[in-house]
Amino acid sequence: MQNNVEQKNKAEEFILEADHKAFDLEHRRKINFNIGRYNDAVKNGSSQFVNHELGRKRASYIKSSAIENLDKYLLEFEANFTRRGGKVLWAKNKTEAQNHLLKIFKEKKAKTTVKAKSMTTEEIHFNEFLTEHGVKTFETDLGEYIVQLAGQKPYHIVTPAMHMSKKDISDLFVEKLHIPYTDDARELTLTARRILRQEYVNADIGVTGGNFLIADIGGIAVTENEGNARLSTAFPKTHIAIVGIEKMIPSMEDLGLMWPMLAHSGTGQMVTVYYTIFTGPRQPNESDGPEEMYVILLDNGRTHLLEDADKRQALNCIRCGACLNICPVYKNIGGHTYKSTYSGPIGSVITPHYNGMEKFKHLSYASSLCGACTSVCPVKIDIHNLLLLNRNQSIKQGLFSKAERFGFNVWKKAMKNRKLMNMGGSFFKNLALKTLFSKTWGKRRTMPEVAPKSFNELWKERNK
Ligand code: SF4
Repeated sequence: MQNNVEQKNKAEEFILEADHKAFDLEHRRKINFNIGRYNDAVKNGSSQFVNHELGRKRASYIKSSAIENLDKYLLEFEANFTRRGGKVLWAKNKTEAQNHLLKIFKEKKAKTTVKAKSMTTEEIHFNEFLTEHGVKTFETDLGEYIVQLAGQKPYHIVTPAMHMSKKDISDLFVEKLHIPYTDDARELTLTARRILRQEYVNADIGVTGGNFLIADIGGIAVTENEGNARLSTAFPKTHIAIVGIEKMIPSMEDLGLMWPMLAHSGTGQMVTVYYTIFTGPRQPNESDGPEEMYVILLDNGRTHLLEDADKRQALNCIRCGACLNICPVYKNIGGHTYKSTYSGPIGSVITPHYNGMEKFKHLSYASSLCGACTSVCPVKIDIHNLLLLNRNQSIKQGLFSKAERFGFNVWKKAMKNRKLMNMGGSFFKNLALKTLFSKTWGKRRTMPEVAPKSFNELWKERNK
C-alpha cells in the first residue's frame, strides 16, 4: 500500500514537473542552445572514424564480453590492482559504500576532500553524506562546482550545468563568492580555478570516479578536459576511486577504441584533453601519486540488471550522454525532472532496476519510442526496446492501477467483438473519448473525432 502511494506520488510529481518544464520557453532556449553546440561538434567529430559503424559494433562487442563475464573480470581486476598495493572495497549498495568512506575518512582524520566529476558518487550522495559527518567537500569539475554552489544536482551526466546560461552563472558567483559582476566567461573560470587551486593543496583525500575499469592491468581509466581529476589525486595523500562494477573492459588494448568512442559521442572531441590510468598508490621508484589508493566497487542494483539476460545490455553504457542530447523528451523536460541520478533515455532504462520498479516505472513511459537514442548509442544499446521491456516487466509485476485494468478490459472486449464496436454510434463514442481523455490526452490537443460511420459499416454498405 505504502509502495503504491509512493509510486503514484513519484509519477504524479514527474508529470507535473514535466508539464511545467516543457512550457518553460527560457529553459527550452538554454537547452536547445547548449545541446545544439554539442550536436554540431559530434557531427564534425565523426570524421575521425574511417568506419564509425564498425567502431560501434566493436565497442558493443567489447562491452558485452565484459558484462557477460563480469564475475571473472572483476576478480582479475582485483588481483591486478591489489598486486601494486591498491585496496579494493566492495559495496553492495549506497550504505555500504558510505560506510567504507566514513571508515577511511575517520582513519585519516580527514576534514576536506576534493572530488572529480563522477555520477557514481552522486548515486551514493557523497557530498551530502560527508558534509553531515563534518567533512568539507569540493567539486572540482567546473560544471559540478557550479551546481554544487547552486545547491543543485547535475542536470546532465556529462555537462552538469547545461541548464545554466552565462548570466545565471555570473549571478551565482556574485551571490555565493561575492565577486563583482562579470559576464566574461574567462574571468568566471579563473575565479573558480583560483578557489579550487587552494583546495587541492588543503585536501586530505582526493576522490574520482572511473570511466573504465581495466581488468588485465588492474587500472582505472579517467578521462576529462580540465585536469581537475589529476589535481584531485596529485596533492592528497589518499585517493579513493568510486566506480560502478559495470565499467569493466577486459584489456588495455580495448581503450584504443573505447576512449575515442566516448570522447566523440560525449562532446564531439577527437580526444579529450587528459587521459589518466590509475593503477594503485605511488610505487617506491615513483616521484608522485598518493600514498594510499582505494577503489570502492559499487553494485547498487547493477547485479539485478545483470540477472536479466534480456536487459543486461543496459550495463554496457559508457555514460557518454549522446542519448540524452538527441532525445526529444529530455530536450523538453530537462534533466532535473527525472529526479534520479541518471536521466534521459538510459536513465529511464536503468533507474527502475537500480532504485525500484515500483517507484520509477513511470520513467519507462517517458519516451516517444522514436529510437533516436538507439541510433546514436556508441555501444549500440537497444535503448528504446529496453524501455518497452521495462513496461512489460512492470505490468507483469502488477504495477498498474484498477482504472487502467478496467479500461483495458473494456477495450479488449470491445475490440474482440464487432457488435460491441458498432454500438452507440459516433455520438456516444466521441462523448466517451472526451469524458475519459480530455484531462490527459486532450489537455493541450484537439481530441480526434470519431467518423459518423465506421469502416465496417461503410464496407457493408459498399458491398450490399
Ligand atoms: S546509453 Fe549509449 S548513448 Fe546513452 S549514455 Fe549510455 S553509451 Fe551513451
